Amino acid sequence: MKNASSLAKMIRQGNRRALSRAITLVESSHCGHRNAAAELLDELARHEPREATRIGLTGTPGAGKSTFMDSFGMFLIAGNRSVAVLAVDPSSLRTGGSILGDKTRMDRLSKSGRAFIRPSPAGQTSGGVTRRSRECVFLCEQAGFDIVVVETTGVGQTEATVAEMTDIFVLVVAPGGGDELQGVKRGITELADLILVNKSDGELGVAAGRTCANYQSALHLLRKREFDPPGFPKAMQVSAIKETGIASFWNEIEQIVRWRKEGGFWHRERSVQKLRWFRHDMREEVLELLLGSDEMRARMESIERLVLNGRFSHSRAISEAMGLVRSAQACDRENSAMPLDAGSRRQ
Ligand code: GDP
Repeated sequence: MKNASSLAKMIRQGNRRALSRAITLVESSHCGHRNAAAELLDELARHEPREATRIGLTGTPGAGKSTFMDSFGMFLIAGNRSVAVLAVDPSSLRTGGSILGDKTRMDRLSKSGRAFIRPSPAGQTSGGVTRRSRECVFLCEQAGFDIVVVETTGVGQTEATVAEMTDIFVLVVAPGGGDELQGVKRGITELADLILVNKSDGELGVAAGRTCANYQSALHLLRKREFDPPGFPKAMQVSAIKETGIASFWNEIEQIVRWRKEGGFWHRERSVQKLRWFRHDMREEVLELLLGSDEMRARMESIERLVLNGRFSHSRAISEAMGLVRSAQACDRENSAMPLDAGSRRQ
């Protein structure tokens, strides 16, 4: 049986199996596992902090994210850097499986000893995506990765969520046939530091140039954010397959990082994110306690019925609901005696 401190030590040593096991634990919805995960995260937080560059990578399915990630990851590794890729897949909620989890889509990277790729199915609530993914990013940082990429698709709230847990946010688009700009409609352009027009090769080359120019003009219209270096956000052309534009992309990232660190924006933004997430997760936690099980939902519905037929005042109903939260917490405590390696048995 592993205790928190030995598992933390193995993670800090860069042990991949320990990292995988910790992520499984963090992703588990079992309340005993959650307590064990909290213990592990606390233990890790007691060590000297390690900080990776956190990159969010998004785009509609088919834009070429995985192919790009494979090329970009290999570029980083060639430069003696290590990279972890966490693929958050909101569609797993519907399909029950993880499309991004197909490791063969990052063929070379998945075979590299300096890379770690992990599909991360979305949880049942947006809090599930946020808290667990954030904690997974933290685990990868503590395992010593230089760059942690959170990859997601343009579905639902997830993109904004990923932007909130990363330092640099990148939108990958494919050359468009017309003037419609993917991402503008979804409001994602406003979150992006860099827009990559992928597939800038062969027959798509001309269309890619046009798409890039269109995005660049759209970016000029956006309100400049205080932490944007001069000339950013910007659109640029890459080809994941031909591996062109990758070094320039990395240069741009380094430029953003340097500028934000020198200007004091880097840590300020991280602190803002941290606090926002704490508040957000607190709310989600209470909601999960209230609505996380069939039994609790049924009890809440009966309280609601009593409100509707006038037998409960609002304050009485709220106090009953808070009573439910307390009883759910008591269940959590009862189940907390869960060994830390229990997560490894859950699939
Ligand atoms: P994802 O769904 O965004 O992860 O997209 P994939 O990486 O799976 O790529 C979708 C399709 O686009 C695949 O058939 C890739 O071979 C193709 N693709 C990806 N990158 C490029 C590129 O740079 N150039 C060209 N021509 N095709 C690409």
